[in-house]
Amino acid sequence: MRAWAVIETGKPLQEIELPTPEPTGKQVLLEITHAGVCHSDLHIWEGEYDLGSRGKMRLTDRGVVLPLAMGHEIVGKVLKWGPEANSAGLKVGDHMIVFPWVGCGKCAECLADEDNMCRVKPASLGVYQNGGYATHVVAPEPRHLVPLGGLDPSLAATYACSGITVFSAINKVMPMPADEPIVIVGAGGLGLNAIAVLKAKGHKRIVVVDVAQGKLDAAMKEGASDTVLADGPDTAKRIIEVAGGQVGAIVDLVNGTDTARFAFDALRKGGKLVQVGLFGGEMNIPLPLMPIRALTIQGSYVGNVKELRELVKIAQSGALPAIPITNMPFNQADAALNRLKDGKVVGRIVLSATAA
Ligand SMILES: [Zn+2]
Ligand SMILES: [Zn+2]
Repeated sequence: MRAWAVIETGKPLQEIELPTPEPTGKQVLLEITHAGVCHSDLHIWEGEYDLGSRGKMRLTDRGVVLPLAMGHEIVGKVLKWGPEANSAGLKVGDHMIVFPWVGCGKCAECLADEDNMCRVKPASLGVYQNGGYATHVVAPEPRHLVPLGGLDPSLAATYACSGITVFSAINKVMPMPADEPIVIVGAGGLGLNAIAVLKAKGHKRIVVVDVAQGKLDAAMKEGASDTVLADGPDTAKRIIEVAGGQVGAIVDLVNGTDTARFAFDALRKGGKLVQVGLFGGEMNIPLPLMPIRALTIQGSYVGNVKELRELVKIAQSGALPAIPITNMPFNQADAALNRLKDGKVVGRIVLSATAA
């Protein structure tokens, strides 16, 4: 198989030839047709997370081994499977979304279809083993595959990460009256998916915050009710003005030092901040305000395969508005990453085997 792999952190991806894996046990081998380019690929590529005053967390210290084909928003066609896989009624050519957030496959979390919370050995595709920037991928078990069922494969690829990440984060602030503002920080691929999911759930007041006016324009087109340009020190104040008061729910898809600060300052009594992004930095909290205002801060890491199945069902019902997609060929994976790094991407770049 061919892969567009990270050979050295931060250096251009290289096209390499690897042996095509032979599926064993319950494994399923797929030929990849589409792979979304996600912002977290930039962190994997750069090899570290910014932990603020605690320094950097190196991904190689967490078990990431190079060369690595990144890419965790994968759609592909079933090619073959191991001897224990066929109870699922797989057929060659089945077009599937691949759930990438796999674990050890044996612990209580994995057995409950909550592999993303595996406490034994996270084995996420595109992070700890080869993923979507390649011609082939191995899914550990058939239960990690969700049929496309007529969905646009480029769009469906984004459900495997950005889709379930926002779906899971939004589930953590729900239920919420439809006309009570929910603030979404960050209007990239995740942010637009968040708006789409909130709209599908019938939510009306969606306040979107970003540093780029172009991304806020895209957010309005996607169905945001209000936007706030975070270009100065008074972002919290402007969120409160636009929302008509302090807010009960904020989903921070950026989660950097600055966004955490204005998000915290914009919360009302009993409010909840869900932290999703991996931008990095740290948060200083005036501690008495946590109990006095009865605040909740919760982290949310991707989503599970049950949420992926649920999200796909909502998408198939037609209730999920599409986000803007730009297709690029696989051999331009490096250029795609650089476009994302430069903040030039509205919506999502999805690598496609048929893009010219
Ligand atoms: Zn991702
Ligand atoms: Zn596990």
